[in-house]
Amino acid sequence: MADDKTIFEKIRDGEIPAEIVHEDEHCLCFRDISPQAPTHLLLVPKRRVARLTAAGQADGELLGHLMLASATVAREQGFAESGYRVVINNGPDGGEEVPHLHLHLLAGRRLEWPPG
Ligand code: 5GP
Repeated sequence: MADDKTIFEKIRDGEIPAEIVHEDEHCLCFRDISPQAPTHLLLVPKRRVARLTAAGQADGELLGHLMLASATVAREQGFAESGYRVVINNGPDGGEEVPHLHLHLLAGRRLEWPPG
């Protein structure tokens, strides 16, 4: 049978390793394998939602939880005061590679605007 789990579901299920920095009932946060800043974390809901444009009203509480969890992680990891960027890549033009909603948390250097 085809394995249609995303890479993030495999990390969630312990099938592939990741450096997990935070976990709660609804989400998991781990280091990106290809960091684009000194600190680059991915915050992923345990229940898969493909992307923002696939989310519905029933996902509203989960989306809010992810936003609040991102601030919790920022405090825990020590970059809440220095600042950080939260990015969601949605669809092809957004640069989405993994069809499992995730927040990128980028910190540890002064980030430029606009992004490339
Ligand atoms: P997207 O482009 O979909 O917004 O972001 C996907 C992210 O997942 C990329 O930043 C990529 O480096 C990261 N990534 C892809 N495969 C793995 C993996 O196996 N482990 C971890 N920790 N990150 C991954």
